[in-house]
Amino acid sequence: MPMTSRRSSRLAVHQRQPRAFDPPRLPDGHRAPVSSYFGRHVLDLIKLKERLPREAYQALLVTLRTGTPLAREAADTIATVARDWAIAHSATHFTHWFQPMTGLTAEKHDAFIDLNVTVPGELKVLERFSGSQLIQSEPDASSFPSGGMRTTFEARGYTAWDPSSPMFLVESVNGRTLCVPSVFISYHGDSLDHKTPLLRALEAVDQQAVVFLKLLGDVDVRSVGTTLGIEQEYFLLDRDHWAQRPDLALCDRTLLGAASPRGQQFEDHYFGSIPPRVLAFMEELEFELHRLGIPVKTRHNEVAPMQFELAPIFEDANIANDHNALTMDVARKVALRHHFVCLFHEKPFAGLNGSGKHSNWSLVTDRGENLLEPGRTPHQNLRFLAFMAVCLKAVHDHADVMRATIASANNDLRLGANEAPPAILSVFVGDLLTRIIERIVDGDAGEDAADFVMDMGVGKLPQLAQDYTDRNRTSPFAFTGNKFEFRAVGSSMNCAGPMAVLLGAVADATGKLSERLKQKLAGGGDRDQAVLELLREVFRETAPVRFGGNNYSDEWKVEAARRGLPNLADTPAALEALRDPKRTAFLLERTVFTELELSSRYNIAIERYIKHVTLEAETLLEMLRTFVIPAGEKQLAGTLEVWGGLNAAMTARLVDAARGATETGARALSVRVAELSTVLADVMSVAGELEALLDELDGVHDEAKAARRLADEVRPLMAKARVSADRLEHLVDDELWSLPKYREMLFVR
Ligand code: ADP
Ligand code: MG
Repeated sequence: MPMTSRRSSRLAVHQRQPRAFDPPRLPDGHRAPVSSYFGRHVLDLIKLKERLPREAYQALLVTLRTGTPLAREAADTIATVARDWAIAHSATHFTHWFQPMTGLTAEKHDAFIDLNVTVPGELKVLERFSGSQLIQSEPDASSFPSGGMRTTFEARGYTAWDPSSPMFLVESVNGRTLCVPSVFISYHGDSLDHKTPLLRALEAVDQQAVVFLKLLGDVDVRSVGTTLGIEQEYFLLDRDHWAQRPDLALCDRTLLGAASPRGQQFEDHYFGSIPPRVLAFMEELEFELHRLGIPVKTRHNEVAPMQFELAPIFEDANIANDHNALTMDVARKVALRHHFVCLFHEKPFAGLNGSGKHSNWSLVTDRGENLLEPGRTPHQNLRFLAFMAVCLKAVHDHADVMRATIASANNDLRLGANEAPPAILSVFVGDLLTRIIERIVDGDAGEDAADFVMDMGVGKLPQLAQDYTDRNRTSPFAFTGNKFEFRAVGSSMNCAGPMAVLLGAVADATGKLSERLKQKLAGGGDRDQAVLELLREVFRETAPVRFGGNNYSDEWKVEAARRGLPNLADTPAALEALRDPKRTAFLLERTVFTELELSSRYNIAIERYIKHVTLEAETLLEMLRTFVIPAGEKQLAGTLEVWGGLNAAMTARLVDAARGATETGARALSVRVAELSTVLADVMSVAGELEALLDELDGVHDEAKAARRLADEVRPLMAKARVSADRLEHLVDDELWSLPKYREMLFVR
């Protein structure tokens, strides 16, 4: 029998060596320290300051600080400097780099070259990059998802430079391209991307938090920023394995495949020693990211085999999000050089851990104080508790809309599904903080606010840091000592979507608490007392959303229902919140989204869900018909042949001496024939059902209904098909099974 390509690739993969790359070196041959090339491919403020005339640099700073548009001359000067810097670094092209709602980043390259005709007939080529080219692109790009926002005659959007995120160089084999981080908006000014709402939400939080701080007594804070540190989980697969599986190539996940006997049960992968080929990939990836000014710091194995994590040092949320989008892009490219495919899918393998994008965030004043970190003085700690109340209120009031922002066909397999934690958004604050909150709720703080704050504030809060070393890893939204970690965000998502809504909710909660505090202070009483009173009310009304137990348990589902918390198990259910004007009003009020943008986001999300699940179902169907069933048939034919041969031998009395054993063998074979036929028949019948159902759904034009039925009928049917297909995998000769198996994809590396 010829060697199957599956088997030859198994051997090839096994023999692959870690790939070396050529990092910058010191004269003595040692690797140059990261600090010597960090940010080399970024046109950051330091480089701009060196290169720009003073007025142009000042104009840029004013724009950054106040958001006012840049004057034309300054833009021209910056563009010229950017061009010269880029060309000096081998760039031939520039592009506005943006984040449309495809989940990927987008670029449209233009060469720097331009024609200059001074004397008619004398053509001269030169490199040009003007201020207007820097600031805004020609309206174009009509085929990005807009959720019906743009009618055909105005099907245009344009990109506009976001000066708060620095320009950078992207590298290909033969050259470089200057990337200008941009927003993407429709001709009428509505956002067509992830970044714009995030920028608006950051501004809303800034405004509301400054007002709240003034009421709390911090009168000299001028602005409040949001920090974000994104832990990114991913899987690596060898390209050969990947290429032989249509499900991975088309859907980014395995739609079938029997579990490997070895999985994550030994718990030996997490933080284990990193496989050499993977480490080589990580080293090259980090090198590329560091040159792009992305401060990646942590790398380690995750829980599942071939699952890993990378985490940068936190930054301003807008930059951190751009950096994460760029990181995913670069990781995909670098992985290919190492003969890997980098999978950001939330659940590429059934039965193993899924991947998240844990979004650590906090609020920081222009004086550098972290508002979610307990301090040393009673005032700092009261302020900390006030912002804790803000966060609890944000999630309590807007959990359902937040849930909608993390809903996708992929993330449904990680949240809310049978082997995954439920999709209930609760907040974990830890034991010590829970005790403090409960004392406040119980009125233990008594009449003497100063005493209470003194007592718990200075004495206990600094211990918080220790309290979080062993934290609750099952919580979708966990306080970790000086920041919150929004863990429910899916690994393949653009973080700006969930962050914009989360920060919209935070702005809303801050605004509401400011109003209430203002009223309490109007009486002219003691400020600390008024704040404590407000905290008591807010901690009491948000109590249902606080949960410190095991979020993965079934009891929690029951308890959450009793508390009245929404449990929106899948995307079609979760997205409904976006269609309810009462639920989304806060996003309009806080100017994070327009009404049109919200409806377009719903349309895009529901459409994506339908396309995704339909694609998966069609891919599975094809795999069943062209891989699984033929393999089962061949096996059955082979088994029948042996069985027939035995029976013939017995009939012809050729085996008299071993008659007993032969009879036993024939009987065992008949059981195997029956089992094979049954399982094969099961696969065929589910495939038939699936096909009929897909045909029927093709005629359902109401998108909400179609999505509902895909979740309720198609996905369960796919799961049923998989059970039979996976049983068949165990009945079929390894040589006949052409799809790489779980054990190979995860353990041959
Ligand atoms: P762990 O790995 O235990 O979750 P780390 O301290 O390594 O915790 O932090 C994880 C991520 O959180 C990192 O990206 C880190 O930079 C980020 N982070 C730490 N402090 C803050 C903060 N104040 N705001 C936002 N992100 C933060
Ligand atoms: Mg982690």
